[in-house]
Amino acid sequence: MRHLPRQNLRDTSTIFPIITTIFKQLGSATTLVLLVCVCVTTVQSVEASEVNTSPSMCTYTAGPIDSSKLIVGGEILGPSASATSAILIENDKIRRLGKMEELRATAPHARLLTCANVYISPGFVNAHEHPPYSGGKPGPNVKPVYTNRYQWQGKEGVQHVEIAYSRVESDAQLYWIELRHLFAGTTTLAGNGAVPGLIKNVGSGDQATGFIYQADMKTFPFPDASVDFKDLPWPYDGPSVKPELTDGASTEIAYAPHIAEGTDKISKLEAEFFLEYVANNPGRRYAMIHAVGLSRDSVPRLRELDVTVVWSPRSNLALYGNTIDLPYFINNGARIALSTDWSYSGSYNMLESFRCAKHVDKERWGNRLSAKDLWIMATKHPAYALNLEQKIGTVEAGFAADLVILRAKSDDKYQDVIESGISDVVATIVDGQLVSGHHDAFDMSELPPICVNFVGDHFVCDDLATRDFTWQQLLEVNKEAVPLFKPEGQASCTF
Ligand SMILES: [Zn+2]
Repeated sequence: MRHLPRQNLRDTSTIFPIITTIFKQLGSATTLVLLVCVCVTTVQSVEASEVNTSPSMCTYTAGPIDSSKLIVGGEILGPSASATSAILIENDKIRRLGKMEELRATAPHARLLTCANVYISPGFVNAHEHPPYSGGKPGPNVKPVYTNRYQWQGKEGVQHVEIAYSRVESDAQLYWIELRHLFAGTTTLAGNGAVPGLIKNVGSGDQATGFIYQADMKTFPFPDASVDFKDLPWPYDGPSVKPELTDGASTEIAYAPHIAEGTDKISKLEAEFFLEYVANNPGRRYAMIHAVGLSRDSVPRLRELDVTVVWSPRSNLALYGNTIDLPYFINNGARIALSTDWSYSGSYNMLESFRCAKHVDKERWGNRLSAKDLWIMATKHPAYALNLEQKIGTVEAGFAADLVILRAKSDDKYQDVIESGISDVVATIVDGQLVSGHHDAFDMSELPPICVNFVGDHFVCDDLATRDFTWQQLLEVNKEAVPLFKPEGQASCTF
């Protein structure tokens, strides 16, 4: 046994002696069983993003690292949840759902990880980030004074104050940004810019650079709109303007550009032209990031054209002071995906997006969004927006084994998920591999040797020999970056 890296690790065997004994007897196997016992007991009052006091504990019985099989058992969030208690994973895919006993019979020599007081969700899919532009906190000029994005970009004259931001250049900085999302349960992240491994990225880069899935995430498809659309009338009845696509990107993959990022005529014209393009170019998946300028009148067309709105409520409010009438959109059949946007005006992670969405719902709409609505907006719907609904976002056979294990604090699983703080994220599993977790929930001596990298209360399972930085350099270079665990300095989420 190697040395424990922390002094305050709990002894799981004193808490779950029977489970630990049974599972350790099964530990020397060629397969891996991850068994999560969901035993909802006490309701803890835990301040989100603050110190955890929940008793979720896991026991991991080590086996061969190259095991091809993994079984995850416990209360699963999703359509099959009531009928199943465990998930059998083979390599990076979910192979089968079933009763724990059945799956253990299928993989009798598996390794085991048992947890108490947790829920298992598909890993969150964040369909809107800009990883290279998500390392800094919002400056003082981030205020809801803009009517379109060209104003804060400095393209509409000096009367509109530009907002400051910078691009991160090193892999160590990008890695930190991905860690911020991973620790909050995101396993797939869309946007240009990535590091290989860790989180799975979606964009138009190649797999070797981290883009496991392909989508055209063209950020600004109407780069000259502030000039070209300025003198056009609204409503508009003239010829349409074609949005730009990413050079070299396939037209078979999803196209998810920023559209209608603002409330004015220019923003509305972007939406008009984009939807016209969608209507004239059927046969691929489309999503519209932001859509702030859309009214209720747009909903039938969104539905008819099967365009998902990728909603970033904090960014909408922080820059434009408004957002779409979300309950109306949902109740009338529009598909919505929740996302963060960049750190300069958006949420720092998906848990903060949940928090912002709930706040807006309470303040403006009278609590009309259910916790389950929001959870679907962070799993299944963003997967659909990216044309990945047959691969990620759901715990079903054939899907990628991307899971987030969260502390259970009540018997309301969806409410618990959306109210989680970072310290409630017990573990993340990406493509069947344990990638990160909270050390208080584990006996670290039981985990694979690569789970040795620590930041705060969290561990990361990564072989740093493949990186161009050491763990110490990672911590050094990101001292001024957006923090991993606290929403310090995050943009406002108020009307
Ligand atoms: Zn954006």
